[in-house]
Amino acid sequence: AQLDTLDIIVLAAILVGTVAYFTKGTYWAVYGDPYGNSLATGNGAAKAGKSRNIIEKLEESDKNCVVFYGSQTGTAEDYASRLAKEGHSRFGLNCMVADLEDYDYENLDKFPDDKLAVFVLATYGEGEPTDNAVEFYEFFGADDVSFSEGGSTDDKPLASMKYVAFGLGNNTYEHYNSMVRNVDKYLTKLGATRLGAAGEGDDGAGTMEEDFLAWKEPMWQAVCESMGLEEREAVYEAVFEIAEKEDMSAEDNTVYLGEPNKNHLEGSQKGPFSANNPFIAPILESKEVFTTPDRNCLHMEIGISGSNLSYTTGDHIAIWPTNAGKEVDRFLNVLGLGDKRDTVIAVKGLDPTAKVPFPSPTTYDAAVRYHMEICAPVSRQLVSTIAQFASTEEIKAEMVKLGSEKDYFYEKVTDRNLNLAQLLEIVASGEPWSKIPFSMMIEGLLKIQPRYYSISSSSQVQKDKIAITAVVESTEKAGAPHVLKGVTTNYLLALKQKQHGEPNPDPNGLSYSITGPRNKYDGIHVPVHVRHSNFKLPSDPSKPIVMVGPGTGVAPFRAFVQERAAQAKAGQSVGKTVLFFGCRKASEDFLYKDEWEQYKEDLGDNFVLHTAFSRDGPQKVYVQHQIEEYGEELNKLLEQKAYFYVCGDAANMAREVNTLLGKLIAKYRDVPESKGESIVKAMRASNQYQEDVW
Ligand code: FAD
Repeated sequence: AQLDTLDIIVLAAILVGTVAYFTKGTYWAVYGDPYGNSLATGNGAAKAGKSRNIIEKLEESDKNCVVFYGSQTGTAEDYASRLAKEGHSRFGLNCMVADLEDYDYENLDKFPDDKLAVFVLATYGEGEPTDNAVEFYEFFGADDVSFSEGGSTDDKPLASMKYVAFGLGNNTYEHYNSMVRNVDKYLTKLGATRLGAAGEGDDGAGTMEEDFLAWKEPMWQAVCESMGLEEREAVYEAVFEIAEKEDMSAEDNTVYLGEPNKNHLEGSQKGPFSANNPFIAPILESKEVFTTPDRNCLHMEIGISGSNLSYTTGDHIAIWPTNAGKEVDRFLNVLGLGDKRDTVIAVKGLDPTAKVPFPSPTTYDAAVRYHMEICAPVSRQLVSTIAQFASTEEIKAEMVKLGSEKDYFYEKVTDRNLNLAQLLEIVASGEPWSKIPFSMMIEGLLKIQPRYYSISSSSQVQKDKIAITAVVESTEKAGAPHVLKGVTTNYLLALKQKQHGEPNPDPNGLSYSITGPRNKYDGIHVPVHVRHSNFKLPSDPSKPIVMVGPGTGVAPFRAFVQERAAQAKAGQSVGKTVLFFGCRKASEDFLYKDEWEQYKEDLGDNFVLHTAFSRDGPQKVYVQHQIEEYGEELNKLLEQKAYFYVCGDAANMAREVNTLLGKLIAKYRDVPESKGESIVKAMRASNQYQEDVW
């Protein structure tokens, strides 16, 4: 779930709602004090009076390469930064990174022929651009792309532009990497020249990083040939200056101790609350919804009263996590910064185009705890870069080997679920890596991402309380030295334990700064924002609906059924409400078992629950089996224009359900399977078939 295309789907109407305007790209875009000014002003560069002219910007800052990114969860942005750095250190290109949303495109016909444009583009959901790339995509996708006045009028207006392109996608979706494929097509058609192949990374196959690494070497060769560049001995150059402020203390009220922005630092939080300005929300209730002691699933009720945040049934809530103390300690200690954790640091971009990804001044502790994705899988490229800072030749050699040998890296790192600090600890046998510049860590790690949860309550029933249903991620693997603990869900578990005064809130050796920066999260609060989605009930409740939601995929359907039960109770006419739910065992992880019975009382025979338990009998039964069994009835409902919803696992279940539905339609309407498929496609196109998958 750490990659662009996973964090997806339902936001088909990307332009809907204010949220889209507050994407993180713009947030980081204003220099100087990025956090105070850009807040709530929307479009970063424009509103802050920055030029939107990329050609001027390149000239002014003496750059000959711009790396544009279209990113949703930060991975494309990270790849863009890495390309920019590498272009400079290895080939002497003067690169800048640019958020697609911060610039205009009408003048790209004047893009100088001695410069290079790089496009790193994630595809979002069903083949859509990421929020920050919507305008760019619409501009180039238009039938009649018109460039600035005085520009070229021939049919190859981009003839002077040289570009390279890499896409981030997920092959489990139908429109795999459609963003990069289409943009590449548009640019070529307009006369631009692509250097090297257009790369495609596949998150579905779990090979994103390797696809990226494999793509970029031949790409650089092509760039060198075309631009007459020569590779040089790469020397590390820091992007950020980290100044330790001896004259300041962590207690000073100007120092960020994890506060997300200036509003939060300066006292009471102020709205509007958005993807750059979270609301510190109270957790009103929390409970465990599995009965088995070895797995946890949390139901939480989060209060949004007084925040001006609103949601409608089917939306998502984002939770802003805090790293576990154990991993923060490990990370700081492995870098030899343990004793300096509370030292105040001022972080500044050494180049005016570099953006500091968190507010400054801060402390090492706060930067690592609240802003850096320190537990994520390790990038092989970063391992190569770190090698030069090893304390001995032996350790360096091991790092070089890990960085250059794909299979070896897989065996020693990826397959053992290590994070960076765990790896560095193992490779150097616990000796600190004091020579690694902290800037390299800021450059090399993603900024921490809020995690999304499908809201499991109905806004009509409880408009001021948002429920979530989250399964706690904990993976033990043979041969792996550590248990892999999901960042956000274990933090939520600790919050729940604190709320209930449970004696050992820390069974896994994880501990959290539960009360947050300057105790601002005390009384059990968590930073959140709401993202609106297109995953919606029919506006007319008398329409039938069919929902498929195994595991936590049932979350939004609890909201749907809750809403329809309340409507029925209020005397409205409510249509057939069919839910397919699956889990391992009826006695262990049957989510909301008792609630369904209550809803059944309200909805009567109009509520039908089909259950599939995979570990209760000799045969594994999944929701797919139940759907198949119910096929004839299901087809009838679809003919009555029932809405069909799927939520949960994108990789397998959602796909199989899609295929199965085509087959069932074919069978019961007595048409060829190809026709069944096309009916399903048409259902998707008309929103009769909706997915909320991750
Ligand atoms: P993370 O720390 O993000 O880890 C997640 C996974 O990444 C791990 O399980 C592992 O597979 C991999 N990983 C992480 N670190 C490493 C490493 N070092 N090495 C190897 N692999 C690693 N979840 C729900 O429970 N309920 C919902 O209703 C729900 N709704 C969602 C709706 C949407 C639109 C989306 C995009 C996601 C939804 N999710 C939901 C998933 C949720 O957002 C989180 O991804 C999930 O809770 C895990 O978050 P985490 O921070 O605990 O785990």
